[in-house]
Amino acid sequence: MSSSTLPDPASASIAIVGAGFSGTLLALHLLQRSPPQTRVILIERNAQFGRGAAYSTGNSSHLLNVPAGKMSAFHSRPLDFLHWLQSLSEADLCGIVPGPGTFVPRRMFGRYIRHLVNLEMKVPEHGDQLELVRGDVTDIEPNGGGLTLTLDRNRTITADRAVLATGNFPPAAPPVEDPAFYDSPAYKPDPWGPDTLADLDPDMPVLLIGTGLTTIDTIVSLLDQGHRGPITALSRRGLMPHRHAAGGAGSAPETDSFPTRLNVLTRALRSSSLRQATIGGSWHAVIDELRPITTELWQAMCTADRQRFLRHLRPWWDTHRHRVSGPVADRIEAARASGQLRVRAGRIRSYRQDGPDAEVEVVFRPRFADELDSVTVGRVINCAGPDADYSRIRDPLVRRLLGKGLARPDALCLGLDVTTNCALLGADGSISRRLFAVGPVTKGTFWEMTAVPDIRQQAEFLAGQLAALVRPGPVLA
Ligand SMILES: Cc1cc2nc3c(=O)[nH]c(=O)nc-3n(C[C@H](O)[C@H](O)[C@H](O)COP(=O)(O)OP(=O)(O)OC[C@H]3O[C@@H](n4cnc5c(N)ncnc54)[C@H](O)[C@@H]3O)c2cc1C
Repeated sequence: MSSSTLPDPASASIAIVGAGFSGTLLALHLLQRSPPQTRVILIERNAQFGRGAAYSTGNSSHLLNVPAGKMSAFHSRPLDFLHWLQSLSEADLCGIVPGPGTFVPRRMFGRYIRHLVNLEMKVPEHGDQLELVRGDVTDIEPNGGGLTLTLDRNRTITADRAVLATGNFPPAAPPVEDPAFYDSPAYKPDPWGPDTLADLDPDMPVLLIGTGLTTIDTIVSLLDQGHRGPITALSRRGLMPHRHAAGGAGSAPETDSFPTRLNVLTRALRSSSLRQATIGGSWHAVIDELRPITTELWQAMCTADRQRFLRHLRPWWDTHRHRVSGPVADRIEAARASGQLRVRAGRIRSYRQDGPDAEVEVVFRPRFADELDSVTVGRVINCAGPDADYSRIRDPLVRRLLGKGLARPDALCLGLDVTTNCALLGADGSISRRLFAVGPVTKGTFWEMTAVPDIRQQAEFLAGQLAALVRPGPVLA
């Protein structure tokens, strides 16, 4: 038998692009699973590692929408986050009494992830294995046996494998005939941008595009900064996220099997919710019962049903599945009751603005109406949720990977096409042994890959896969 060349563990290195929750957690799991000589290089373009868009908010009114008891970074230690919270001093907790059902500020979760990185770096053997690099990855190129990552300032890093943990991209602008308004300073394309709410006259009318969780965050920020002017939130269906059930969702009776035809499943969920209501329960338990098998359902469903789901049911799923905490829901309801916040359903048709500093009239067609309507505002903020259609995302790294055929968008435009092992599929359908993805980038294959409980399992799984790839196998003689 001939001898075969095996990866040299002394030189094995894995680069992770993006140090939000997904990339950072993957790095932590890799340190625990891969051979000690493996280098784990975590690259982040922003100053903060471990936070990403979700957990870098400085606003303490931006609460987690999942209770502390379900936000552990580790599936096998479900109360890790809660225990960390409980270990904090009273001064750090600022009046929060942490319990499993408490919704704490999101920035505390970012602090927890950073604490986990610091802990790992103190482990003598892991401290040397993990390299944190501040930089913007603009290209990845196969180099004959590995990969070369190009970073800003003409830097390069070589690695055996790379994982895209690039998270969410800013929302796409609604298509209109004349998009000139999108160049106006009155239009804010990125809800997380530093200038989005800056220099805003507190009495100025504002339009928020979208009615989901990002819109809720923006309303909370506006109220916190003392905004008095009218706020209009507009989306195609005008649905806002529901609130979590007071005192927890409870549990639904165990189900023997779940149908995978969309219409049958929808009917089953409806009747299950009605049954729950008759025994004093709520639909929350029915939705929560689906959580552990959502990915299985998605993968078992035919493509036509997945398309039907995205076209017709997605907004209902999103608003029932991704809910808001009671305190946040109370503020939103109060703003609606006072008339300051108006939620409208419709599609934007055009913008009319006389000069870049003038107010803009946003013309839209209300849902189920023939007549156009309009709202005149001083600022339009796009809160429509992340753009996941990689065929139009302008990010240089994405463009180059697609241009070289190293990656392709998934068929439903939810992210990049990956296998169930998180390996990227190239333009020709080939499965990469060097390029992988984790987190929301993989939604096309996994659907629910948004919240911490889903991402933590995926990160752990992928770390196991990658560790097996870099671990030396038995030498064939
Ligand atoms: C506002 C908000 C609130 C949320 N709240 C909750 C919650 O309460 N509970 C819950 O379970 N889930 C919540 N989620 C969902 C979930 O936790 C996040 O989507 C998750 O954090 C995604 O992490 P990520 O690392 O994949 O992406 P991101 O957080 O977007 O991080 C990606 C990182 O990659 C970096 N990056 C991108 N491209 C490059 C590049 N080319 N080079 C270098 N760096 C790059 C970015 O700078 C960024 O830091 C929330 C999400 C959002 C957006």
